[in-house]
Amino acid sequence: MENCVFCRIVRDEAPAYFVYRGHGVSVFLDIYPVETGHMLIVPDEHFESLHDTPPRVAAKLFAVAAALVRILRNELGAPGVNVITNSGRPAGQEVFHVHVHVIPRWKGGGWRRLVSRHRLTEVEALDFINRIKPYTGIIEEYLNNVFGEGT
Ligand SMILES: [Zn+2]
Repeated sequence: MENCVFCRIVRDEAPAYFVYRGHGVSVFLDIYPVETGHMLIVPDEHFESLHDTPPRVAAKLFAVAAALVRILRNELGAPGVNVITNSGRPAGQEVFHVHVHVIPRWKGGGWRRLVSRHRLTEVEALDFINRIKPYTGIIEEYLNNVFGEGT
């Protein structure tokens, strides 16, 4: 898709802070995080939303989400994590390239605090990337375990 911002990020035509790339899936930081470490999981191939995403691709997105929740809770000490996908405009979808939000909840606040966002700063982004990078092998382990190596 020519003008899709997530396609442009995946093709390295737009900037993003990447956490992981592989198996046809990319993870990068949301530029308007709910809390520090708010990540988006996208397939490298363009699909509008979960309803038109092939099952195998959808399964990859959620396998990566599970790995990220494990990293956030077990390794980075996040007391809670939200995993959310907004399917369709009435559900709050703003970018029409399927994506799964993984939001560590350091401060809490439940559903009520999910909308208060600030713009990601470079310091915040690089600090979080440095903290999570040592554990991204866990994402690879999950994907290899479910889908086989290099798939
Ligand atoms: Zn796209």
